[in-house]
Amino acid sequence: MTPAGTGRAPHAVIVGAGLGGLATAIHLARAGYRVTVLEQRDAPGGKVRQLAADGFRFDMGPTIFTMPFVLDELFAAAGRDRRDFVELLPLEPFYRAHFPDGFVFELSSSLTDVLAQVRAMSPDDEPRYVEYLARAGRIWHEVERHFLDRLFHSWRDLADPALLAAGLRMDALTSLSKRVGGRIRDPRLRQLLTYQAIYVGASPDEVPATYALISYLELAYGVWFPKGGMYAIATAVERLCREVGVEVRYGAGVERILVEGGRARGVVGTDGAELRADVVVSNADLHHTYARLLGDTPRPHMSDATLDALEPSSSAFIVYAGVAKTFPGLPHHTIVFSDDFARDLREIFADRRPLTDPSFYVCAPSVTDPELAPPGSTALYLLAPAPYLEGGVDWDALAPSYADRLLERAERAALPGLRDAITSLNWYTPADFARDYHCHRGSIFGLSARADQTAFRRPAPRVRDVSGLYLVGGSTQPGGGVPMVVLGGKLVARLVERDRTDGRWRA
Ligand SMILES: Cc1cc2nc3c(=O)[nH]c(=O)nc-3n(C[C@H](O)[C@H](O)[C@H](O)COP(=O)(O)OP(=O)(O)OC[C@H]3O[C@@H](n4cnc5c(N)ncnc54)[C@H](O)[C@@H]3O)c2cc1C
Repeated sequence: MTPAGTGRAPHAVIVGAGLGGLATAIHLARAGYRVTVLEQRDAPGGKVRQLAADGFRFDMGPTIFTMPFVLDELFAAAGRDRRDFVELLPLEPFYRAHFPDGFVFELSSSLTDVLAQVRAMSPDDEPRYVEYLARAGRIWHEVERHFLDRLFHSWRDLADPALLAAGLRMDALTSLSKRVGGRIRDPRLRQLLTYQAIYVGASPDEVPATYALISYLELAYGVWFPKGGMYAIATAVERLCREVGVEVRYGAGVERILVEGGRARGVVGTDGAELRADVVVSNADLHHTYARLLGDTPRPHMSDATLDALEPSSSAFIVYAGVAKTFPGLPHHTIVFSDDFARDLREIFADRRPLTDPSFYVCAPSVTDPELAPPGSTALYLLAPAPYLEGGVDWDALAPSYADRLLERAERAALPGLRDAITSLNWYTPADFARDYHCHRGSIFGLSARADQTAFRRPAPRVRDVSGLYLVGGSTQPGGGVPMVVLGGKLVARLVERDRTDGRWRA
């Protein structure tokens, strides 16, 4: 199949085999394009990556999988059934949270159980929590209906009364922390309803209250785990790529995007080889794409000053520990709150320095899929949020003691006997993110989702200064996170094809 109006299949080159890049590739291939994906590393999935060490398999990046319907839709768009490619296991409970006063809260699919715990925490807050969730549900339906199936290129795209009204109903004019603070009294419940802003790399003081929808989404659609680990999603999507005819090349770093007469004409690899194309889609971070891959191409719409003014998302410090014991009753996801959550937020987003004694998150994937660890052992992933790189912090030097401290606190909070049973230990720092994926300042969700960089205010995928060049992934619309970048792949592929048929590309 070739797209209507073309004698031959247009050639699309995609820089990067992250999930956004692979999803774009699938949709373009289905629309009749010849597609080549160039990935500098040796595996698909970008940050969705796996470490095999000492008989354990650890997901290295994302671990929490929500909105499974987005993945189903990608496979359906290619005429396939996701279930033939990757099995999704429902998690129950979704997660357990430990507070410094000893209170333990479990979020699960049973609203009755959840409400009983809210009641135990703070009886007054039960009706307020129910009202908050109902409001979050309404926000989600507005977002889904008006904002998730389209891209925004300028303010003119908002000139639709229905859209403006929906925007108001989305509670975008106040911050998440203000909204939660105004409704909920118990500080622990407030924490539970705001810490998720860190999932989008921003402070709850900066993200719009629209992000309350995350609380609703978890309850409404569940939290899932792909058998084999999150990396099983990357390999499944890569297999789908091959089945629809996409060529994925590894060890194929791109040095430069070829621009001639203001038009993207292909790429030059780090080996100096030129690959010509009709359209280029960059799945690399926005900063890498503009500041490095475009070389000295004039970019009046994205000057260095504009790039500098964009706020990266936060980063993370992660420990991957293989442990020769099991922990009866340990759930798949655990959150351990520090004694001062406000200090955590200040250190990440204002002081921008390694956190003193941060709240942290523990993932134990082998609890759900025992094949990820040797018999009788547990694979553990401990993540402490970290600021993006600034101020010359030497993470490589800091890492061993930082990892020790995290393991010690995890042992005390939820994992008795942890440290004596470790048989495999590795870590990953903000500096590693910058080195391995060209993440700007080690940011892990592309740009921060603060109010002026979210939804229609996030940089648009169509590069205004270069015809035929597009962005996809965490630093462009619709945003970061696995479901969002997969969704972005669909929207960008649709935009590419519309621009081509509209004759928008310079000859
Ligand atoms: C520690 C961590 C935890 C996370 N937790 C979650 C979570 O629980 N749930 C969730 O939904 N999301 C989570 N995320 C976010 C999620 O992983 C990302 O938003 C998403 O995977 C990014 O996809 P992407 O399409 O932007 O591509 P990326 O994954 O950023 O991949 C981009 C690819 O481009 C390649 N590339 C870059 N430059 C070049 C070049 N010049 N030439 C060739 N190739 C190049 C890179 O090597 C990389 O493979 C997490 C991320 C991290 C790092």
